[in-house]
Amino acid sequence: MTPDQWFALGQWLVGGAIGIGAVTAGAWGAWRFRGAQPRRPICTCGHGYGTHDGGHGPCGGKLRARRNYTDFLDPCPCRSYDGPDPLLIR
Ligand SMILES: [Zn+2]
Ligand SMILES: [Zn+2]
Repeated sequence: MTPDQWFALGQWLVGGAIGIGAVTAGAWGAWRFRGAQPRRPICTCGHGYGTHDGGHGPCGGKLRARRNYTDFLDPCPCRSYDGPDPLLIR
């Protein structure tokens, strides 16, 4: 191997390390970003705290359903809000 070839090999290794580092940092950043997402007052039925009549009543939201090629808006069957307490989310 001539010095030039060693230099090329070194460049190749450094480039690969930077590439792997960039991918790892990107994945780590995406994971961090997902973990840092603010929690929102959304019930498991998918509706917000406000549709549940103060959080304890049945859901007043609508669910879009499709029957016979027609869209219907069904009342949400959810009986009570079970998402995070909006007063605890800051
Ligand atoms: Zn609900
Ligand atoms: Zn609902």
